Formats: sequence, C-alpha cells, structure tokens
Amino acid sequence: MTTRAFTLLYHDVVPEGRWESSGFQGADADVYKLDCADFRQHLAAIGQCLRHPPTTGPALLASPSMDHPVLITFDDGGVSAALYIADMLEERAWKGHFFVTGCRIGTSGFLDPPQIRDLHKRGHIIGSHSYSHPLRMAHCSSEQLHDEWQRSTLVLSEILGEAVQVASVPGGDYSRQVAVAASRAGIKLLFNSEPVTRSHIVEDCVVLGRITVQRGHRPERSAAIAAGRRRLQIREYLFWNAKKVAKQLLGGIWLRARVMLLERRAKKDVRPGADPGSGIER
Ligand SMILES: [Zn+2]
Repeated sequence: MTTRAFTLLYHDVVPEGRWESSGFQGADADVYKLDCADFRQHLAAIGQCLRHPPTTGPALLASPSMDHPVLITFDDGGVSAALYIADMLEERAWKGHFFVTGCRIGTSGFLDPPQIRDLHKRGHIIGSHSYSHPLRMAHCSSEQLHDEWQRSTLVLSEILGEAVQVASVPGGDYSRQVAVAASRAGIKLLFNSEPVTRSHIVEDCVVLGRITVQRGHRPERSAAIAAGRRRLQIREYLFWNAKKVAKQLLGGIWLRARVMLLERRAKKDVRPGADPGSGIER
C-alpha cells in the first residue's frame, strides 16, 4: 500500500559560525548546517501550519492512511542531535529521526553510543545512514550496498538492543538497487532525497522522498513543505530532475564543480535570509 507523507530533511544544527563542531567537515557539508536561532524559527513556522504534531516512520508504517503525516529527519549522525536538536524538538513535544553514519559513531563531531541510546530512550527514531557514507551510493556494487546496510544496522542494533528498521540514503544518490539491498538488510522504511510525497515499495521496504533544507532557506519554505503546498513541490521536483540529468551527463565533473562552487560560496558566506536554492546534497 502506498502512502503520502511530507518529510523535511535537515542535517546539523549548531551555534552560529561553529559549523565545524558537528557532523561532516568542509564547505559542502556546511551548506546544510543551520544555526540554532534559525532552526528555532523553522520549528515555529512549521508549528503554525501543522494540523497535528509531526509523526514518526514506525507510526506511519502502522497507520499508512494517516491524515497528512509530517516527518522531520536529520542526516549524518552529528553530535548536534544530542546537544541541541532533540531539546528543541522536545520543547514542542515533537520527535525527530536521526540517521547515523555507522563508521563515524564515537568519532569527533559525531554521536557516541550513550548519546544514541539516550535519544532512542527519549522517543526519537534512530536509523542507519549507511556505514561509510559513500559519495555515490547508487554507483556501489550489490555487494557494497549489502555491506553498507548490513554493517550499519548491525552496529546500531548492538547499541540499541533492538533491530533497526529505518534508514536514509546518503548523498541523495538513490536507485532501486539501493532499496533492494536495504530491504534485504531488514530495512522496512527507507528515506531518499527525492522531493516527492508519495511512497513506493521495493520488495519489503517502503521508500519515501524528502525535501532538503539548507542554511539560508527561509522558515516559511519549511512550513510550506510541511503544509504540502503543491507549487513548491512541483518547483522542487523540476529542479531535482534537472540536477539529476546534469549529474548523469557530467559524472565526476559534476562532483568537482560542486566542490569548487561550494568553496567559493563558503568564502563569501551565505547571507542570512537569502535563499540559495536547493541543491547539492550531502
Ligand atoms: Zn549524509
């Protein structure tokens, strides 16, 4: 059975200017990090348009016909989940989804096992974000894909003492094979970064899209995503597809161009309130 859901994709949330304090390092990662004050405004804007609190993946799997489900997700497993994000969500009694990169657990800037257990105990959803965060997940072999999902779910299951059945695809690089491998590793719900609201099913796994939020995106944009505004969805969908074609045509050139662009943008810094457009995923 397919379902519709409105899912936001955030990454780290840190005090202003301290982009290096959580998650992956570098200009391409920093683009996705919001400062705490901005994120608080995003939550307030989302809260104003919700009919009911955001839900969770497991709740959605149990009730696929749920009325207008909104989900809030965070990729990479940066330590900011435990330091700032969970507290801010809990001020509103909301739950988040934290997708953890297996090989980074306990390393500098990333969640450690006690923090992961604590988030889980507080009712947040812990999921896999692959083991090594491949830059181009959809280009991995079947064996590599199996290994990425298997190792990451095993590590997290050992930390949590229960099976991990939710995951998100790193780098926005999705293919059916990525979902097949996830399903065979026991993942029941897989989030990618395609800006669609209708789910599809691959083997035993429900696949849901998300819309990415970057630093500089206005709170009203996140509210419009949560509200399911059609115009915004169409715009995001068209932009995503144009980018996908460009990536396919340019391959490695795209990746090099992306790093150069982001390094230049990092030097200029992003103006508060500016909307740099959605784009280059982590
Ligand atoms: Zn990621």
